[in-house]
Amino acid sequence: MKTRLLSAADPETPKLAGEIIRRGGLVAIPTETVYGLGADGLNPAAVDKIFEAKGRPGDNPLILHVTGAAQIELFCHDVPAVAYELAERFWPGPLTMVLPAKDCVPKRTTGGLSTVAIRCPQTAVTREIIRLAGVPVAAPSANLSGKPSTTTAAHVLHDHDGKIDAIVDGGPCQVGVESTIVDLTERPARLLRPGGVTPEQLREVLGELIVDKAVTAQVSQDEVVKAPGMKYRHYAPQCEVLIVSGGREQAASYIRAHFAPNDRVLCFEEELPLYEGCAPLAYGREAAVETLSAGLFAALRELDKPGIGKVYARCPEGGGVAYAVQNRLKKAAAFQIVNAEEAP
Ligand code: AMP
Ligand code: MG
Repeated sequence: MKTRLLSAADPETPKLAGEIIRRGGLVAIPTETVYGLGADGLNPAAVDKIFEAKGRPGDNPLILHVTGAAQIELFCHDVPAVAYELAERFWPGPLTMVLPAKDCVPKRTTGGLSTVAIRCPQTAVTREIIRLAGVPVAAPSANLSGKPSTTTAAHVLHDHDGKIDAIVDGGPCQVGVESTIVDLTERPARLLRPGGVTPEQLREVLGELIVDKAVTAQVSQDEVVKAPGMKYRHYAPQCEVLIVSGGREQAASYIRAHFAPNDRVLCFEEELPLYEGCAPLAYGREAAVETLSAGLFAALRELDKPGIGKVYARCPEGGGVAYAVQNRLKKAAAFQIVNAEEAP
């Protein structure tokens, strides 16, 4: 199959992409979070193709992308009022809500669950594609399963050239990490994945919010988790990743003392001078955490190459969007963290 590259700026693109999706094809779509691999979320045969292209485990459900809050009731039942309050405040935007699924949503889309994850993306061209497709678009991140997510059209082409119908190029994603996922099927609501909408922002609407343990710790393959995606190895380059926490100088001393010739350092721009000779790669500025979330996956993909021994990674501290960056980086590192202020 020839994978067509469609520009988001071309006025014909939404119609073309929408038609491919309506006919059961696969289209990679730009969103403010990451690029998604989209198909008709109500068509099990089309959804199958997503799992096949990504090599995604069948029990890892997809997010249904819609054009707005008015569509929630088409695919979900027993929708609490707070879902509409969250949609009012954060949609279109990087917030996914988990709600009870109506029967029209295939089990293939929900990974066999009785709930469905639903979101309205901010990127205008993608909302127009969904509108013209006339169906909700199921779309996980467009990376091959387990690999760092795709934040440019080139990343998607690298993973899926010849395997999907089209890629809509909307430039680099602004947020750069996947959506925040909040489960509204229980009270208090539960944060399943941190993202661009922060826990602090969610608490302003929800009051109480529980943070699922899979956000901060490793869960084993056979554990029952609320968001099945969280139990799999994720976001990781081929080599070992070790997070080095602690102050700037102490971390640099630790890393420089342990650095071997084929290793790499993933750090903040501010730290580049400390790692001369250690092949440092900066993914953004510590002082502007949104540059770190926007740059993280491109950097992890850059480090996903044979021949690299080990990656020493620096991770931002604190809440807000830094919380999402910590979550992705910790997963990429399989939760291997050393504190340079305590380690030899
Ligand atoms: P991705 O699009 O690659 O970010 O994957 C979608 C994420 O949403 C995965 O981590 C899924 O486990 C999660 N997800 C999708 N549907 C549900 C659901 N019904 N309940 C809980 N988590 C879900
Ligand atoms: Mg993913």
